[in-house]
Amino acid sequence: TAVPTIKLNDGYEIPQFGFGVWQVPADIAEEVVSKALEVGYRHIDTAAVYGNEEGVGAAIAKSGIPREELFVTTKLWVGDFKDGNTKQALRTSLQKLGLEYVDLYLIHWPSPNDEKYLEAWKALEELQSEGLTRSIGVSNFLPEHLDKVAEIGSVTPAVNQVEIHPALQQRDIQAANEKYGIATQAWSPLAQGQVFDEEPVKAAAEAHGVSPAQVVIRWHLQQGRILFPKSVTPERIASNFDVFGFELTDEELAAIDGLERDGRLGKHPAEFF
Ligand code: NAD
Repeated sequence: TAVPTIKLNDGYEIPQFGFGVWQVPADIAEEVVSKALEVGYRHIDTAAVYGNEEGVGAAIAKSGIPREELFVTTKLWVGDFKDGNTKQALRTSLQKLGLEYVDLYLIHWPSPNDEKYLEAWKALEELQSEGLTRSIGVSNFLPEHLDKVAEIGSVTPAVNQVEIHPALQQRDIQAANEKYGIATQAWSPLAQGQVFDEEPVKAAAEAHGVSPAQVVIRWHLQQGRILFPKSVTPERIASNFDVFGFELTDEELAAIDGLERDGRLGKHPAEFF
């Protein structure tokens, strides 16, 4: 299976489709990520706060897959940048992952009131020039936060990772990302399973003989977003990856667009915390 890649604004390529590990317990992370690598995933999305970087690293080490064939993302926790601990936080993550560099390092949430995320951005720029991360980006940034980063930064974020699924599409944020040449990553891309009974999703699944999850994955892929659904179930890890043999029609895509209902599952970035 050839997963398409997207060229980021810094020239690096990212596999458009990957595997996310939020809520994958530390004690099974190695096994679950090993399964994903075996199926063919080459892009893993983790975070310091997920508590499973060691398991992710162990799976990578055991796989024997050459480092340059993998794309690994981790994220800077809010408490670390509030404490001015950004540069040490990435070093700690790298140690846990057993890697010399990550492909992408993200500010996990802006926690915007004191604007400390701007200092954090300058620290990420330094980490990038030191070679500890190839690309740098942000997560849960609203357009106003992107504007502030653009004012103070020398580097434009490569990605902005935000909650996007059929029930919450955040088209305003997607437009702001596009304006800056920032790639959009969709988190909770399957709405954690909560849109699988929706009529347009079920209808497309029947028409193509695929699962509702596979339909929602195609909806993201065909609209150009980067995504990394999570599962700990081996059959689902495999079937979620089997999405390169069919295509949704424009009508099916539009019907899924019609599921927007401001259905936020996570926190609002302005309020957290
Ligand atoms: P998701 O939308 O990927 O949904 C995962 C859940 O959907 C699974 O736990 C399971 O219940 C269900 N599911 C998955 N495949 C299925 C299938 N084939 N059939 C039936 N049910 C299936 O949710 P997520 O884990 O919240 O998001 C994916 C990734 O996004 C995370 O693992 C993490 O890497 C990232 N994320 C980032 C942030 C952030 O703040 N940056 C927040 C949340 C998630």
